[in-house]
Amino acid sequence: MKILFVASELFPYVKTGGLGDVMAALPRAIRALGADVRMLVPAYPALRAAVEIQGVAATFADLMGGGPARILRAEAPGLPLYLLDQPAFFDRPGGPYDHPDDLARRFAALAWAGAHLGRVGDGGGWRPEVLHGHDWPAGLVPAYVAFGEGPRPATVMTIHNIAFQGRFPASLLSDLGLPRHTLTPEGVEFHGDIGFLKAGLKLADRISTVSPTYAREIQQAGGHGLEGLLAHRHQDLWGILNGVDREVWNPAKDPNLVSRYDLRHPARRAPNRLDFQKRMGLQEDPGAPLFSAVSRLDPLKGLDLVLDNVDHLVALGAQLAVLGTGDVHAEGAFRQAAQRHPGRVAVFIGYDEALAHRAFAAADVVLVPSRQEPCGLTQLYAQAYGALPLVRRTGGLADTVVGVSPGTLADGTATGFQFEAANGWALGEAINRALALFHDPATWRQVQRRGMAADFGWEGPARAYLDLYATIPSKGN
Ligand code: ADP
Repeated sequence: MKILFVASELFPYVKTGGLGDVMAALPRAIRALGADVRMLVPAYPALRAAVEIQGVAATFADLMGGGPARILRAEAPGLPLYLLDQPAFFDRPGGPYDHPDDLARRFAALAWAGAHLGRVGDGGGWRPEVLHGHDWPAGLVPAYVAFGEGPRPATVMTIHNIAFQGRFPASLLSDLGLPRHTLTPEGVEFHGDIGFLKAGLKLADRISTVSPTYAREIQQAGGHGLEGLLAHRHQDLWGILNGVDREVWNPAKDPNLVSRYDLRHPARRAPNRLDFQKRMGLQEDPGAPLFSAVSRLDPLKGLDLVLDNVDHLVALGAQLAVLGTGDVHAEGAFRQAAQRHPGRVAVFIGYDEALAHRAFAAADVVLVPSRQEPCGLTQLYAQAYGALPLVRRTGGLADTVVGVSPGTLADGTATGFQFEAANGWALGEAINRALALFHDPATWRQVQRRGMAADFGWEGPARAYLDLYATIPSKGN
């Protein structure tokens, strides 16, 4: 089977969150099962510089008013790529979603290029049977396929985060190459605007999202305005959990760690904690329970609940290290908390991949208090690295962490801590439970071992995506 992913991020070249990680691992995992998955991404400078360009698949005099464009054939290790080379749109500094003035046209160009490959092929005889778009930047892929000419590949749309929807003024319709008749509820229209994600969810043959619980939540209160559409399409909506790329996230061979370790050598974990404490300016205290959070600072991530608990943690003798960037108020509040509690609370404002690896290898508890969490990766990385996740019971967090309780301790299934209400008190109560277990080292190690042994590999999810593709009736082309 031939499948083309269309996406705006690809680790290690361009990543703002979990999407980049998933786009690096999932297509390779599906390829390992024998399907020919390739990926179309913008030719960002970092990507162009790193991969080998092999030829030109298509040229366009203009795409979406961004001037001349080409689709280049390229190769990342283990993953054939198509790069949308359109210098006016993509060859510039900054993150993928900066420059709001042409954001809609930029990702419309990407979606158009994806639809072109789906209908016409790459000029070298390769044409995908399935076009698989990821998140709002690829939301118009199913629209260009549905409203265009020529053979119609199957289309799949995956929601990695429904909070980001790509909503733009209806006045852009003709700039995006969309005919007037598409601006309806059956097409791309969303409350009088153009909705990129909405269009994808309406028009794709199948929809998936990244956990079974999130698939349910987004049909109810958590759909950010799309719950009705998704409830209507519930038979076409799948929830498939993300996995962990064990090549990148593996404490036994992680080059970022001062001491590598595994299930059989847990004692080798300890030097990483001292190293991390030193780097972060925390007291090098081997006995203090170390709580950490690695997160975008966004209201949906619930880090304000952690702020509510800073003094509580310190009063109980714990340390807190936060790595994050985003909301400036939250950044300031964490900086102030660190000033109030020097040596006990530390914060790194910014994005640092290596430091994130070190945090997971050092922490006793990784906090993930999200208000909403489609799948979440940091609770999985925490488990792989022997830290116990403490999560709010929502979305993928509910599906991937088994909360400590008398029952789950007795049957050996516990892997972390859960709490329910999205408030600081409920998190504080869960912190108390975590600290109580911390003072019972034998039971703590049992829970830690269970998490480290958990199989969050990509093979199962990759098989589930192949099953999903197989449910789409053949288009006969
Ligand atoms: P989301 O995609 O909503 O941001 P996920 O949990 O799915 O959340 O993925 C977050 C990814 O970003 C993880 O790989 C995590 O380690 C990484 N990350 C988040 N914040 C930082 C940071 N400040 N420094 C380094 N990595 C970070």
